Amino acid sequence: MSSYETAQKYFHHAADVMDLSNNMRILLMTPLREVKVQIALEMDDGQIGTFIGFRVQHDKARGPMKGGLRYHPDVDADEVLTLASLMTWKTAVVNIPYGGAKGGISVDPSTLSPGELERITRKFVDEIHDVIGPDKDIPAPDMGTNAQVMAWIMNQYEKFHGFNPACVTGKPVELHGADGREEATGRGVAVVTRSALEKMNRSLPETRVAIQGFGNVGSHAARILHEMGAKIVAVSDAHGAVADEQGLDIPALIRHVEETKQVTNFGNSREISNAELLAYDAEVLIPAAIGGVLTKDNAESVRAKLIIEAANGPTTPDADEIFDKNNVLVVPDILANAGGVTVSYFEWVQNRQHFKWELSEVRKRLETIMVDSFERVWKIGTEKKIPMRTAAYVLGIGRVGRATVLGGI
Ligand code: NAD
Repeated sequence: MSSYETAQKYFHHAADVMDLSNNMRILLMTPLREVKVQIALEMDDGQIGTFIGFRVQHDKARGPMKGGLRYHPDVDADEVLTLASLMTWKTAVVNIPYGGAKGGISVDPSTLSPGELERITRKFVDEIHDVIGPDKDIPAPDMGTNAQVMAWIMNQYEKFHGFNPACVTGKPVELHGADGREEATGRGVAVVTRSALEKMNRSLPETRVAIQGFGNVGSHAARILHEMGAKIVAVSDAHGAVADEQGLDIPALIRHVEETKQVTNFGNSREISNAELLAYDAEVLIPAAIGGVLTKDNAESVRAKLIIEAANGPTTPDADEIFDKNNVLVVPDILANAGGVTVSYFEWVQNRQHFKWELSEVRKRLETIMVDSFERVWKIGTEKKIPMRTAAYVLGIGRVGRATVLGGI
């Protein structure tokens, strides 16, 4: 099943609960605009490189469209469309005034020199600058992109449109970025983990956590959960996985990854495989890497009773059914990882007001939104006796649907 078919399936589960008409389903699922561009580049060795870039703008009923930019070899039209639709429901679940979009370039950024990375980014902006902007569509970082890439996007966009820091979020703090944006997705993940554990009558200090992926989201989630008292017993990245039943020393592991670029060969930790990590003996599993990692082939082996979807689309529908049958609580991506877009919204607000908030203010407002959104989704799930994923979609689709009808079709 493709990622788009998966997204459709989850959408229709909720649409069935809502008794949504067929016409409304088609209207809400159909993307507003899909852009596919050629990016031709002179590589450092003098060769010509040709890459394909995508931007999909899914829905703007609730405001300007918002979504990350992914640089990864697997980026294709199907994946970008799926992720754009997830952004529409996600911004609605946390009730920030945005629609959904997503973009990306099919490229492995680790094979590019810093100069090539900058040139590919600027060329991409040359091709899409007319359709993005602070009141149209605001990109942000995702896998393979970071604050530096966002700085180049802002600079290139401004060559066409003048001073406009709100045209992109996730910028460096020294260049109109927001304090707290980099950790925001991981912090949101930690906050919803705590909320879910409260519902399960568990405290953080008696909880063991396994995390797949130790990049932006995974490492900050690990750090903040560690600070909250949880025991992080296993983590992985693309190179391998490490475990320690007594709990990994997360600040030391972060330093180790800064130096060696991978989690393996860390202190006295035990090396395990990525497959073992997903089935690790822990109360909480946090997939924070790529999509489609929890499938019908490994779902039965998952021992965690709580899954927090920090990554986008980590669970296939087959696996989702198995988790439901096994009473595994799944906090879905469109809620669990919404902390990033929430603080991106704060950054956009600050840019537009030319007024900088304190870090404590950013964290406090983020926490309020994440806890409140979790509680709303939980309430819908409990009242309608549906899984949290379906409940989150019911909340998101309901808000987008009402905005669409109120605005007039
Ligand atoms: P990142 O590139 O910073 O980190 C990704 C991590 O996953 C790295 O540690 C990488 O080594 C690891 N990884 C890649 N393939 C793996 C594999 N097969 N097995 C195990 N580990 C693997 O990316 P990120 O920004 O942390 O994003 C991670 C996920 O979170 C993505 O699904 C992204 O869409 C989602 N997300 C990110 C944000 C954000 O603000 N960055 C917001 C919402 C959702």
